[in-house]
Amino acid sequence: MAQYLASCPLGCNSGLEPTPLILPEGPLLKCSDCGQLISQATEERYRESMLEFDDPKGTLPDAASRRRRFGLGKKWLDKISSLLNKPPSEIRLLDVGCSSGAFLQIAKALGFAAEGVEPAPRAAQTAKDAGLVVHCGYLQDIGFPPESFDAITLFEVIEHLREPAELLMECRRILKPGGILLVGTGNTASWTVASEKEAWRYFRIENHGGHISFYNPFSMAKLAQHCDFELARIDTQNVRLVEKGQTSPLLYRLSRIAGELLNLPAKFLGRGHDMQAYLRKS
Ligand SMILES: [Zn+2]
Repeated sequence: MAQYLASCPLGCNSGLEPTPLILPEGPLLKCSDCGQLISQATEERYRESMLEFDDPKGTLPDAASRRRRFGLGKKWLDKISSLLNKPPSEIRLLDVGCSSGAFLQIAKALGFAAEGVEPAPRAAQTAKDAGLVVHCGYLQDIGFPPESFDAITLFEVIEHLREPAELLMECRRILKPGGILLVGTGNTASWTVASEKEAWRYFRIENHGGHISFYNPFSMAKLAQHCDFELARIDTQNVRLVEKGQTSPLLYRLSRIAGELLNLPAKFLGRGHDMQAYLRKS
């Protein structure tokens, strides 16, 4: 298998060692310093797995999950507003990788001056058709003026990048001093990974196209430091013990109940599999 990185891409300069987490692309590699996990997927496999993203439906939720998504989005936006100590109406926000604009719609409804960036043309067009301001392309190619935004959000983006520093530095450049960058990604230090190991769907490029780099709170803090951000806050939530279809329906239902019971302690101990890191431009 082709191996593109010889050392940790988060600024550790430490070597990458194979782990017992074996994917179809080969064992995940781990930074001996920060614990970042790196996929050995070839460039070809990676590109092929990304094709699913240019879908006009994008990430628009169905009616059943819309209310839950609104609640989640509001929670994250409230935290941004409180970290900036500004009301939404005074916050210019950019959602990078906005897909068809589901999060932008929440931000707009709450009064934020929100716009997005999306490289997939059909998803971007759906967002534009819904009246949202969306720039089609990659952030680095758009060239926003320096210090344009109070807040930037990056949901489900950073795990797609072999070398994330360039994108974070561009976010830093276009953030105002004291601005907040919210990074949402999975957490490999979660009880979900402790239980499911390589079966965690998030690791699987066949289920989650383009996922090649996997964070934990410590590696996220390393990346923040490497890109000259201060880590203002980190949250994790949600625990799952087995994936659907890996066990009998009864055991799956019981594991769901156990997962629910573990959610609260996981939040306090940083062991949930969903992670949001709020980085501040110092
Ligand atoms: Zn590292």
